[in-house]
Amino acid sequence: MVRSADRLGDLVTGRAFEPVLRIGVTGLARAGKTVFITSLIANLIDRGRMSGLAAAQEGRIVAAYLQPQPDDTVPRFDYESHIAALTGANPHWPESTRTISELRLSLKVRPTGLLAGLQGPRTLHLDIVDYPGEWLLDLGLLEKSFADWSAATLKKLQTRPEATAFLAQLRAEDPDAKLEEPRAQALAAAFTDYLHEARRAGWSDLAPGRFLLPGELAGSPVLTFAPLPPTQAPRGSLSREMERRFEAYKAQVVQPFFRDHFARIDRQVVLVDVLGTLHRGPEAVADMRATLAETLSAFRPGRTAFLTRLLGGRRVEKILFAATKADHLHHSQHARLTHLIEALVKQASERARFAGAETGALAIAALRATTEEERDHGGEVLKMVRGRLLKDDKQAAFYPGDLPEDPSHVLAGEGLGDFQAMAFAPAPMTLRPGDGPPHIRLDRAAQFLIGDRL
Ligand code: GDP
Repeated sequence: MVRSADRLGDLVTGRAFEPVLRIGVTGLARAGKTVFITSLIANLIDRGRMSGLAAAQEGRIVAAYLQPQPDDTVPRFDYESHIAALTGANPHWPESTRTISELRLSLKVRPTGLLAGLQGPRTLHLDIVDYPGEWLLDLGLLEKSFADWSAATLKKLQTRPEATAFLAQLRAEDPDAKLEEPRAQALAAAFTDYLHEARRAGWSDLAPGRFLLPGELAGSPVLTFAPLPPTQAPRGSLSREMERRFEAYKAQVVQPFFRDHFARIDRQVVLVDVLGTLHRGPEAVADMRATLAETLSAFRPGRTAFLTRLLGGRRVEKILFAATKADHLHHSQHARLTHLIEALVKQASERARFAGAETGALAIAALRATTEEERDHGGEVLKMVRGRLLKDDKQAAFYPGDLPEDPSHVLAGEGLGDFQAMAFAPAPMTLRPGDGPPHIRLDRAAQFLIGDRL
């Protein structure tokens, strides 16, 4: 039991209550989660370039340090390897998110206002939880039976060239026939191949999420199913067994993720590779819009009976939507990228009939890989970015094309002509005084997420 004298002492030293803020970071594969978290932590530890974070600007963050995380069974976010990749002699991008991971960063902050002179620094623990956005899409599966999911999926697959091989293999199967494990595995593998192809082609609706990022579940029966045409199949048949595995996936994979991780998040970052999607064309944009709406709906109170029961009135307080890799554009176009992500989120919110959390939208680059350059091109000034290309290690200046002033055209499905996307190698990440900022608006992202608690 805590004695009141101890508690008084704690109050004076500020130890009585050390609040914890759980920050979820998500986004589809390659959206930029790993780079975002690594850079956020590095910049909070260093703080030399975080002027948009008020407490850092005011010099009130007196220390930031990593601590053992509270959840012993969740993999630790491998900050040290990732930062070593980015800051080594030959900087390279770290390995992307494949599963859930977590890290605790603790901040010691001097309070403001009347108490500033009386109290010592307070501690705020940030538990940063990284998880694939694909997993959020699985929420939709919880409401569907195997027959419903199969019907909807097969209908979509008819229109996708990436699914040709899987559909051919499916036609050769008899769902009523007795289960033969190698055939079930081959069918599930063909379905997984389709999902990989679809992702490469730029589609975002890629549930079941663990098929692409299986983690330790790779090869297990919960991931060995595929959509099948409707049938009244007998016990022991391929169809009945796949239905059973689909239900097991829902109960043993999807529900525990939402219960153990999602339900405990206080604030959420959703990263979106808007520029990469624009490059892939109008269909990819439409698909991303639908996927964002689906993602957002996971945060809507009352979305499903399961979530309502789980959350019991608790809700995510803030959601930041960030268009990543803004360093692919000259800064004169950043406002347009911000308008685009704002419009996307607004539309997605309406579609998801979402209300509750405070939302924000920003165009950011967690790690700036380019510098800016202006060139005269036949009397016209081209505003370009320069960086080291990933494909051949050569320096190149590059003009991706103009984003539209009015985002509604893009959202309405109009293409952007030949809007280019480039892959740059990371520039050495330096946080020394005098060097250019190593990020774009990462400080503003931090202010939105944690500023009110510092
Ligand atoms: P994740 O799958 O969401 O964890 O994505 P990553 O963080 O691994 O990022 C995927 C890739 O996007 C990286 O390997 C980089 O090529 C690129 N990327 C991510 N963040 C940035 C950024 O701030 N600037 C630039 N230029 N590229 C980035």
